[in-house]
Amino acid sequence: MTFSNWNRPLVWLSAWVVVAVAGAAWLGHARLRVLEDAFVTDARIVHRLLSQRAVQHDAVMAMLPLLQPPVDRPGNVALPLPRLPAAYPQITQVFRRLPDSTWPANWPDALCAGAQEAVTRSGQSGHAELALADLPAGKAWLALAGQEVDFALLLDLRAAIPWEEWPMDAATSAVRVRLEYQGQAMVVQAGRPPSDGWRYAFRKTLASQSQPFDVVLAREVGWGELPWGRMLTWAVVSAAVLAALRALLRQRAAVRRAEELLRVGQVARLNQLGELAAGMAHELNQPLTALLANTQAAQRLLKDEEPDLDTARHAMGQAVEQARRASAVVGRLRRVVERPDLSGQAQPLALAAAVHEALHLLEPELRRRSIAVQVDAPADLPAVLAEPVALQQILHNLVMNALQAMEQVEASQRRLHIRLRVQGAQALLGVCDSGPGVPAEARTRLFTPFYTTRAGGLGLGLSLCESLAQAMGGELTLAPSPEGPGNRPGAEFHLLLPLAVPASLA
Ligand code: ADP
Repeated sequence: MTFSNWNRPLVWLSAWVVVAVAGAAWLGHARLRVLEDAFVTDARIVHRLLSQRAVQHDAVMAMLPLLQPPVDRPGNVALPLPRLPAAYPQITQVFRRLPDSTWPANWPDALCAGAQEAVTRSGQSGHAELALADLPAGKAWLALAGQEVDFALLLDLRAAIPWEEWPMDAATSAVRVRLEYQGQAMVVQAGRPPSDGWRYAFRKTLASQSQPFDVVLAREVGWGELPWGRMLTWAVVSAAVLAALRALLRQRAAVRRAEELLRVGQVARLNQLGELAAGMAHELNQPLTALLANTQAAQRLLKDEEPDLDTARHAMGQAVEQARRASAVVGRLRRVVERPDLSGQAQPLALAAAVHEALHLLEPELRRRSIAVQVDAPADLPAVLAEPVALQQILHNLVMNALQAMEQVEASQRRLHIRLRVQGAQALLGVCDSGPGVPAEARTRLFTPFYTTRAGGLGLGLSLCESLAQAMGGELTLAPSPEGPGNRPGAEFHLLLPLAVPASLA
């Protein structure tokens, strides 16, 4: 497990990437849906409009037998009829063929054959039939078999397009519209040439038996048509929201950390006061006891001398009294600040979590000093028995000492390594730094109250930590550093704590 100060910005960056990409994908998808819906709607309208026109042609054909003008001139050739009203500009020619006549001689053979065949089919079906289609030229011939006379009609398909009702702007629309029939095609609307991208297509045959042309629409949506402006706005807005959220969370974490540090600091100060008193008691008790013994001896000696015995006796009595009182005070103070027994308050704790909590609290300090931290802890490390505040205190002190020691080496050399492992019935927590280490002559004195090499140091931190560790049934030691020129610099402190469930029972 590696603890890094830099994983957090990366987490936020990844979160932003996920949110920005998901939002942009949703916006793109929504735009594609809108474009596809518009395409399908337009395609249906185009199909309906063209079908209506085709049905009109069928209706005109069906009307022709009723409008039969009198046979004005006999002959054996089909005759052109007068033009239909301007309402049907697409019907460019209409012919009527009497039973004994033929289609005009200037008609190409294919048209004559097609018309004949269509008339035969029309005789069976009872409605107009397609005689010939020339879609590239925009022409189609329809034929109808009447009771006595047959009719043929030439359509200008281009003139049949109802542009006035057209759902798209034919000049600018990206949609391609074609009529297709048996491999032929007529371009109704050019649209944009085929390209890469999302493709929409529509094909449906006209709803007319005489003009079975397929209405074919197609369009592609390119990357350029995606809503890039909105996507960009979304990315910027989501970045701003996440940045604000991050700032808020950081601020709250900083407040919580400050409160926690204050708490640890207060406890530390109280405990250090206790240590101070213990140190003073230790320092004062010896001389006071000696003073008492000496003054008692002097008092005995004075008993043998003459001058001002009463005064001397009185003074010495006072001294004895004061010395006794001082001794009693010191004794009482000592009893008050005797090492606390924390073993009763110990509870099962996850050591790795406590380490991370301490590192979290000191994160600004670590960052300020550019210290790389590594924590190695087996995932299955059993819980230890410890008092939570005391454990935090020890960790805080050890890490702070390491940070302060590493101020003496270059920033690039600063490494804090914390490792946890089981050692017998205890858990061992090693705090190892890459500072200058502890000189041999100082090794035995580190845990003595008031020993310090730091300007402004009290020299009580380690002795306090040692007391707290022992009070929890544990131990705090400076790990031996092997001597020799190849030695790694730095100091390593070992904190041993009893396992909540001894390894032998687990
Ligand atoms: P203080 O921090 O007030 O000096 P401590 O009891 O915490 O008191 O530390 C006592 C002394 O032990 C320090 O002044 C320092 O000389 C030494 N010391 C503690 N930790 C380290 C360390 N990680 N590396 C080198 N020296 C250390």
